[in-house]
Amino acid sequence: MSELCDFGLIGLAVMGENLALNVESRGYKVAVYNRTTSVMEEFIAGRAKGKAFVGCKELKDLVDACAKPRKIMIMVKAGPAVDAVIESLKPHLDPGDIIIDGGNTYYADTERRTKEVEAAGFLYSGTGVSGGEEGALLGPSLMPGGSPDSWPALKPIFQAIAAKVGPNDDIPCCEWVGPRGAGHYVKMVHNGIEYGDMQLICEAYSMMKECLGLTNDELYDVFAEWNTGELDSYLIEITRDIFSVKDEATGKYMVDLVLDTAGAKGTGKWMSQLALDLGVPSTLVTEAVYARGLSARKDERVQASKTLKGPAPKYSGDKKEFIESIRHALYASKIVSYAQGFVQLQAAAAEHDWPLNYGDCAMLWRGGCIIRAVFLDRIKEAFDANPKLENLLLAPYFAKAVDESQSAWRHVVSQAALLGVPVPAFATALAYYDGYRRERLPANLLQSQRDYFGAHTYERTDKPRGEFFHTEWIDLR
Ligand code: NAP
Repeated sequence: MSELCDFGLIGLAVMGENLALNVESRGYKVAVYNRTTSVMEEFIAGRAKGKAFVGCKELKDLVDACAKPRKIMIMVKAGPAVDAVIESLKPHLDPGDIIIDGGNTYYADTERRTKEVEAAGFLYSGTGVSGGEEGALLGPSLMPGGSPDSWPALKPIFQAIAAKVGPNDDIPCCEWVGPRGAGHYVKMVHNGIEYGDMQLICEAYSMMKECLGLTNDELYDVFAEWNTGELDSYLIEITRDIFSVKDEATGKYMVDLVLDTAGAKGTGKWMSQLALDLGVPSTLVTEAVYARGLSARKDERVQASKTLKGPAPKYSGDKKEFIESIRHALYASKIVSYAQGFVQLQAAAAEHDWPLNYGDCAMLWRGGCIIRAVFLDRIKEAFDANPKLENLLLAPYFAKAVDESQSAWRHVVSQAALLGVPVPAFATALAYYDGYRRERLPANLLQSQRDYFGAHTYERTDKPRGEFFHTEWIDLR
């Protein structure tokens, strides 16, 4: 091991501390710094004790402790704190040194910072990190973007610390994503898909609990079974486990004691907002964000529940068959959710000139992160077979899967409407599927209305595309 450190890490909160331990555990010497020095000192005296760490009280000390070209990762609160750290680092760096931001940064900030840092003579990498505390320590999913020249230097360390998948557990969930903000954009879409997956699971839970009256023990068994098939994933697995946990003080199931108001940190909202900007219908993440918003209005809902009426949510058909239908609804909706996510990535890549590899993106999420799932192998295969695939729904494997699930899916959505149980994500996924598969939508009437009141013009079915017409629909004189 050289005298100097191989890697520097700034910000020793939950993510930074665990990432630093992960890097060190792969045989690298790591310099660490935290704005509040006592945090660094506690780390060095505690979890880092006896390991190859150098604790630094000043940023200059951290820079001096690292071998050139320096690889210094910032794991601080996303936003202005990252700019502040970059500005404090710059005077101490040498040309070719690499600054990495591993936080949940808004991609446009990374676009800007890459240009600014490169203009100052250094390299920059905006790297999406997923997997929370455990992933950071044992193997996260990493989505590096930024200055392309940073990648050869970062690759050995990042691929060593990343989660591994594949038959021999040797494929790292870390590959170069693209220039500037591409890595953070892919991370944001990952988070948006995570929002969708969680909402879909909650809707399945709600149907089984409310309409079928399943107990927590029965729900445990259902999710355990689902986790052995095509839904096999981290989120289904932890959902299964949640139904087994009891509160020590009361003996009651924890899940029943948790208040039904969901929080959000904003990455789902970013994806939704950017989908609107791009004009792509990422309806699933948007409904998931809205569902969290509605859940947060708890007091209002409690009041409304006393006034607003609806049907009793009791399903009278075969219980086992309905559980299987709900599984189909969840699977088909999940396919739509991922299809929408990749369509948004394609639109963003076109807008920002990022040469994204969509199969690789699916593999980055295959391990280490919250949306890790067996299902992502099928997505990788679909994009490998056709890298220009416009929509996952068109890949033969997924077209067949949705077709096989659709009658059950329709049954669940219609029953939810009849029984008064909200399933916004199941329903919007189905509406998207039905809209996408239609040669003709009612937008002919919409264009007619726009032309009527605003002379917005329209194209005609019997004329070439690109020719625009206007009609005086009614003589108003
Ligand atoms: P955090 O709570 O987001 O941030 C706390 C860290 O930021 C502390 O080390 C703090 O230093 C430092 N900090 C805040 N403002 C600063 C400033 N102006 N200058 C220098 N340092 C500053 O920490 P985290 O939960 O470990 O997350 C780090 C990043 O990873 C965030 O962007 C987060 O969104 C992202 N992320 C988190 C998770 C997760 O599961 N938590 C997963 C993936 C990604 P002091 O000790 O001095 O206050």
